[in-house]
Amino acid sequence: MLEKIKAAAKKYEGEIIETRRHFHKNPETSWNEVETTGYIAEELKKLGCGNVKVGFGGTQSGVVADISGEKSEGKCVALRADIDALPLNDEKDVPYKSRKENAMHACGHDAHASMLLGAAKVLTEIKPELKGKVRLLFQPAEEHGIKPGAQALIDGGALEDVSAAFGIHVMSPVASGELHYRAGPFMAAADAWELTLTGKGGHGSMPEGAIDPTVAAFQLGNALQAIVSREVSPKDTAVVSIGGLRTSSYVFNIIPERVEMNGSVRTFRAQVQDCVEAAMGRIVEGVCSGTRCKPDFTYRRVLPATVNDAKITELVKSVAESLLGADKVKEAPLNMGSEDFSYYGRVVPCSFAFLGTGRADKKTDAPHHSPKFDVDESVLFQGAALYAAFAWSYLEKE
Ligand SMILES: [Zn+2]
Ligand SMILES: [Zn+2]
Repeated sequence: MLEKIKAAAKKYEGEIIETRRHFHKNPETSWNEVETTGYIAEELKKLGCGNVKVGFGGTQSGVVADISGEKSEGKCVALRADIDALPLNDEKDVPYKSRKENAMHACGHDAHASMLLGAAKVLTEIKPELKGKVRLLFQPAEEHGIKPGAQALIDGGALEDVSAAFGIHVMSPVASGELHYRAGPFMAAADAWELTLTGKGGHGSMPEGAIDPTVAAFQLGNALQAIVSREVSPKDTAVVSIGGLRTSSYVFNIIPERVEMNGSVRTFRAQVQDCVEAAMGRIVEGVCSGTRCKPDFTYRRVLPATVNDAKITELVKSVAESLLGADKVKEAPLNMGSEDFSYYGRVVPCSFAFLGTGRADKKTDAPHHSPKFDVDESVLFQGAALYAAFAWSYLEKE
């Protein structure tokens, strides 16, 4: 059956590439994916998908639809593709370059959407041999951060009846055609913090009459790094980064009134996340009391860690080995990036995997979120096959 699925996906390869180029030329950023949504919904209706639901999070973005197998009753398995682009100018010289200012598919979500549409075609074709139901999740706003598309889909009922979910992300740092899986914690939880240090502005020649918030900022720059080295166990993984630092004035002979700072924290385990958050609060208080500044500190948990279910991941691995060959399927290292796919994992057993699309000779090895990002399109039909083969195999087994 997997051979049949692979052959069917190969048959649709031209359409999958064409669709990807259409999305690439017409990118839409998080929560603005109106035309992308319309295009996908239209395709799904043409295929005869059931329960096509359009618009999530109070917007017109996102599509969810079902493909019902005809073989017998069974479970419902979800396949997820995110569909949003980034606010960035496309600097590639290719015929399918973005036609828009400040919008570009620089993370490969155009590839995800077209691969899942390809999988929908394959699954529709094998309906007589399909048990149960496949739920297709075309999710908006993965890149948004503040209002994650995954949570909006869950709130809109997208996981009702679903007993497992699978997602793919194309990866330019991974060699083209390889599938990287990992059971357990895979991608980090992302937190964001903001801090305003208020002192008392004054003349640069008379510090005794001022309270200098830059002193607190410099001390914090060092002190915060001691959290990872001295408070988190060396066996755990965490990152504390300062992203921004600015003074309320920028004049050589003025002590500024305020310093604003922000940054991010990445962790994998809840205990480590709690530890870092508590330590940051404590250190900020301590440094400020020592330097007489007033802190205004906020710590926001943006995305949970992506934790892959062991059993589902084992199935992903075995399906990938059959489709791509065992030498192309490898265990991924921990990834400090974050994904809102993690929200699905808090509701149902999930697995998220990386499909390599990086090839230097095709110039598809630029980093994600860079203006030169591109994907090796020869891999896309394999992504479609992986989606469809995972769904078929899961339903067959359960
Ligand atoms: Zn991204
Ligand atoms: Zn992405």
